[in-house]
Amino acid sequence: MAVRSETKQATECRQCCTFCDKTIQPRGCIEANCPFLYTYEDESTGRSYMGCLQKVFDAEIDVEIFQHAERTRAGYGGVKAKREPMPMCPFSVERSYEGTGAAFDCVNPRFFDVSEVDPGGYRAFDLRDGAAVPGHGS
Ligand code: SF4
Ligand code: SF4
Repeated sequence: MAVRSETKQATECRQCCTFCDKTIQPRGCIEANCPFLYTYEDESTGRSYMGCLQKVFDAEIDVEIFQHAERTRAGYGGVKAKREPMPMCPFSVERSYEGTGAAFDCVNPRFFDVSEVDPGGYRAFDLRDGAAVPGHGS
């Protein structure tokens, strides 16, 4: 049956019907004062962007849009991880589908860890549990 296919990437798991993806919370990169978080100003537009030198996420985020979103209740949220997060990276796991029964039982719980890189590393928030992001709303 196709559903139980192998994990294709470290950033996504398709081993059950839930379909999980790792996302990075840029706010956490700022809070961690990560040295790999860069910003630059596009002289042609005057707009500022930020991104990850390690390309854990490869989106370049408009700083003004980010700051505006962060002032809302929902916040900016996450961006899809492009490669395996490093131990200090604030990642979450987003689930595409909810369901009950064996088809939705997690068979890859280590997907929520950075454990293959560093057993002491970050453990993802499971957004299904409604876990609060530290510092959010403070
Ligand atoms: S994703 Fe990780 S490496 Fe990249 S800026 Fe954020 S904390 Fe730093
Ligand atoms: S719930 Fe577990 S097994 Fe299913 S897709 Fe997510 S990480 Fe993979």
